[in-house]
Amino acid sequence: MFVLSEDSERTSGEDAQAANIDAGKAVAESVRTTLGPRGMDKMLVSDSGDVVITNDGATILEEMDIDHPAAKMLVEVAESQAEDVGDGTTTAVTLAGELLSQFEQLLEDDIHPTTVVQGYKQAERAAVEAVDDTVVDGEIDEETLTEIVTTAMTGKGTGGVTPESLAGDIVDAVQRVETEAGVDRDAISIATQPGSSAGATELIEGVIAEESAARDDSPRSLTDASVGVLDADLDQAEPDVDAEWQVSSREQLDEALQAERERLEEFTQAVLDLDVDALFVTGDVNEQVAAALTREDVLVFDSVDSDTARSVAKATGAAQIGDLDDFEADDFGAADSVRIESFDDDLVFVEGGDATETVTLFVRGGTGHVTDELERAIRDGVDAATEAADTGEIVPGAGATELAVAAALREEAASVEGREQLAVEAFADALDVIPRTLAQNAGQDPIDALVDLRSANETGRAGLVQTGEDTEVVDPVGEGVVDPASVKREAIRSATEAATMLARIDDVISAE
Ligand code: ADP
Ligand code: MG
Repeated sequence: MFVLSEDSERTSGEDAQAANIDAGKAVAESVRTTLGPRGMDKMLVSDSGDVVITNDGATILEEMDIDHPAAKMLVEVAESQAEDVGDGTTTAVTLAGELLSQFEQLLEDDIHPTTVVQGYKQAERAAVEAVDDTVVDGEIDEETLTEIVTTAMTGKGTGGVTPESLAGDIVDAVQRVETEAGVDRDAISIATQPGSSAGATELIEGVIAEESAARDDSPRSLTDASVGVLDADLDQAEPDVDAEWQVSSREQLDEALQAERERLEEFTQAVLDLDVDALFVTGDVNEQVAAALTREDVLVFDSVDSDTARSVAKATGAAQIGDLDDFEADDFGAADSVRIESFDDDLVFVEGGDATETVTLFVRGGTGHVTDELERAIRDGVDAATEAADTGEIVPGAGATELAVAAALREEAASVEGREQLAVEAFADALDVIPRTLAQNAGQDPIDALVDLRSANETGRAGLVQTGEDTEVVDPVGEGVVDPASVKREAIRSATEAATMLARIDDVISAE
C-alpha cells in the first residue's frame, strides 16, 4: 500500500539516524574552530556578495543558509542559547555535536537509542547540578563583572582595542541599570557608527537616536535642557481648529490669513510658555510653528519614531503626553545635554545624567565590518555581565567547569543501573570536547592537554588558560577567566535537548 506521494523521499532506521548525526556533527564542526581565546574567525559571503566576518557561533550559523532539517536543529541550539543567556553559543553547539558523536558510538555498540536518550537525560540533570558545585565563592563586585566581560570578549574581533579597555564602559552600563529587581537588560542599547577607531567607543547615559531636527537652523546642542515628549501633532490649536472661511474678497482673504497667523502665534506662545528647550513630537509640526520655536532656540524634532519617544522619556524622566493642553510642569524631563551630530545620518544624543533609566553603548570602529563584530563582542560582554549580576553565580572558565562536571558524571555513572550507565559516561566524555577544543585552537595537542588538565583537576581547580601569548594549565579564577554559571547550565540543557531529539528520529519523510 502506498500512502506517500511518489515525490516524497523517505529514509528510515539506521540510514536516517546516520544521516542526521552526520548533518549535526558537520554543523558543530563548522563553529568549533572559533571557540575560545585562540578561536579563528569566519568570513561568510552571501549570494549577493555581502561579507560578514565573525567569531560568533550564532551569527555564523545564521548566515550559513543551512537547510538540512537535522542540521537546522543544531542551529536552533545556538539561537535558543543566544536568546536565553546571550553568551555560550559555540559551547552549546560544540557540545551538541559531541553528544551526537558519542551517540553514534553507542549505537555501534548496540545500545538502543531509547536507552541513550534516557541516559543522556539522567546525565543532563546530574551535570546541571554539578555546575552548582563549581560556583566560585564570593560577591559579584565590579572587579568580578570586569573579569566576566573580559572573558566573554576574549578572542573576538574588537578592532584592535583590548577587551579590558572596553570592559569598564560595559560594566558601568550594567551597573547603571541594575535595580533591586535585577538588571534591566532592555535598558541597555547598543548603537554603532563606523568612521572612527574602536577606542572611541563610549557609554552614553541616555539614548542615541537617528533623528534630525525639524529645521536646519535649529540649535544643535543644548545643555541642562528641559525636555518634552509629545505623542501628537503640533500643528493646530484646539479646539476650534476647523473653522472654515468663506472668502469672497481681498480684504476677507487678508483677514483670514491674519486670523490663521494669530492662531498659530497663540499656539506657539502656548508652547513657549511651557518653557521647554527640546521637544520630541511623534506627529507633524506645522512649519510656521517650527520656525517660530526655532527662533526662540527651542530644538524641535518632528515625526519622531515611537520607540525613540519612549526611550527619550525613559532617559530624561519626561512623561509622554498626548495633548499639548495636558502638559504640566512635572511632565517635562531633564537632560544634561541634547545634541545633534552628523554622520551619514544625523544622530541625536540625549544624555539624561544621573536620573537616566536607560544607557547606550556607542560603538565605533574603522569600518562597518569592524563595528559589526565589535558590537557582537560587546553584546556578549553585556549579556554575560547581566547574567552574572542577576544570578550572582560565576564559574571557572577555560574548560575547568566542563572538566569538573565530567568528573562528577563519571562518579555518578557508577551508581546508574543498566546500560544507561554507558550513556552517562559517554556524556561525560562529550563534555571533554570543550577543553580539548580550547587546546586544539591554541595549537596544542588535545590528548596531552586533557591528560595534564585531568591530573591537575585531581588536586585543585585547573583550566587551559590563555594569558598573553601563553597557554597554561592553571586555576582560571586566579587569572580572572570566569563565566556565568547560567551560561554553562543553559549550554548543557540546550545541547542535550537537540541531541536527544535527533537521537529519537529513525524516520525522515520529506515532501518534495
Ligand atoms: P561561546 O560562544 O561558547 O561563548 P567563545 O568563543 O566565546 O564561545 O569561547 C568561550 C570559552 O572560552 C569559555 O569556555 C571561556 O571560559 C573560554 N575563555 C575565555 N577567555 C579565556 C582565556 N583567557 N583562557 C582560556 N579560556 C578562555
Ligand atoms: Mg563567548
